[in-house]
Amino acid sequence: MDPMRSALIALSHNRALQELIVRVALSRRMARRFVAGETLAEALAAVKGLNSRGMVATLDHLGENVTAAAEAIAAADEYLAALDALYLAQANCNVSVKLTQMGLDLDDDLCHDNVRRIVHRAAELGNFVRIDMEGSPHTAATIAHYRRLRREFSNVGIAIQSYLHRSRADVEALIAEGIGHFRLCKGAYDEPAAIAYRERPIVTQALNELVRLCLAPAGRARGAYAAIASHDEEVINYARTFAYQHDIAPTAYEFQMLYGIRRELQAELVRRGYQVRIYVPYGGHWYPYFMRRLAERPANLLFFLRALVGD
Ligand SMILES: Cc1cc2nc3c(=O)[nH]c(=O)nc-3n(C[C@H](O)[C@H](O)[C@H](O)COP(=O)(O)OP(=O)(O)OC[C@H]3O[C@@H](n4cnc5c(N)ncnc54)[C@H](O)[C@@H]3O)c2cc1C
Repeated sequence: MDPMRSALIALSHNRALQELIVRVALSRRMARRFVAGETLAEALAAVKGLNSRGMVATLDHLGENVTAAAEAIAAADEYLAALDALYLAQANCNVSVKLTQMGLDLDDDLCHDNVRRIVHRAAELGNFVRIDMEGSPHTAATIAHYRRLRREFSNVGIAIQSYLHRSRADVEALIAEGIGHFRLCKGAYDEPAAIAYRERPIVTQALNELVRLCLAPAGRARGAYAAIASHDEEVINYARTFAYQHDIAPTAYEFQMLYGIRRELQAELVRRGYQVRIYVPYGGHWYPYFMRRLAERPANLLFFLRALVGD
């Protein structure tokens, strides 16, 4: 018998392995709700589909907290390939990058060189790079890298989390420096009360306040841009109302949502003439991203259980 086949038959009786494989297969199926696929080709197909429905996108090659320089360099290379592919496909889509994937935990210059290569290629192709914001141990370094990149490039922006106490001052400072190109979100990590608001209404109010700082005349006079990344209608309606009252065109800012979340709301905003950008994650390292999405909404566990019974 083919040794591979006999090994597999032997393993077919292995209960622990069976459980593991079933669990992985199920969570993969579940993950497909939030993740466009494991390959760039699958991600591109998802982006083109969104484009055809009037939405723009941002591509995230999943991965974070790399532990070796070679991994960080390879991750940056993957982004270069993605930028080229987006260009060739004439897709309306930029890219989102996590600095820990670029080597932030390993070496500052390695990280800068990696993200710089991506921003530089994006500039050559007329595209844009958004730096995601990660957990609080990385906030200051992420903002410092952003400032450094902005000295050389204008096609790069940063994400800011409203749950952090420091974020209002960060937003004000970056706007004052004329580099206030933001994705504004609530924040997806579990941060301590000493540095972050933990009550939902306060986080929402803090996000509205950051939106206001960007859309107010003083902010816009300094070139501030708000990409409002939320599925929360309270936040979306606050921005819409503020913009309407201040005669700000719906194209002067944008809404952003995650792939697979509140799809009917995404479509409704497009119908109403707003710019909607969908965050499209892809790649093999989907597990931390997937777990954060589960953590955001315990009801997602129900989908998981449904997958378990074969729905
Ligand atoms: C485009 C984009 C980029 C982001 N980038 C970052 C980043 O760089 N750094 C960071 O820390 N965080 C990021 N986030 C995540 C963000 O910080 C929040 O954790 C997340 O968006 C949930 O907050 P919410 O504003 O949608 O409001 P919530 O009050 O959490 O949700 C409002 C409603 O949206 C729906 N919803 C929200 N989340 C889910 C979910 N997971 N599954 C199903 N339904 C859901 C539910 O109906 C919920 O009632 C990003 C979010 C978006 C949309």
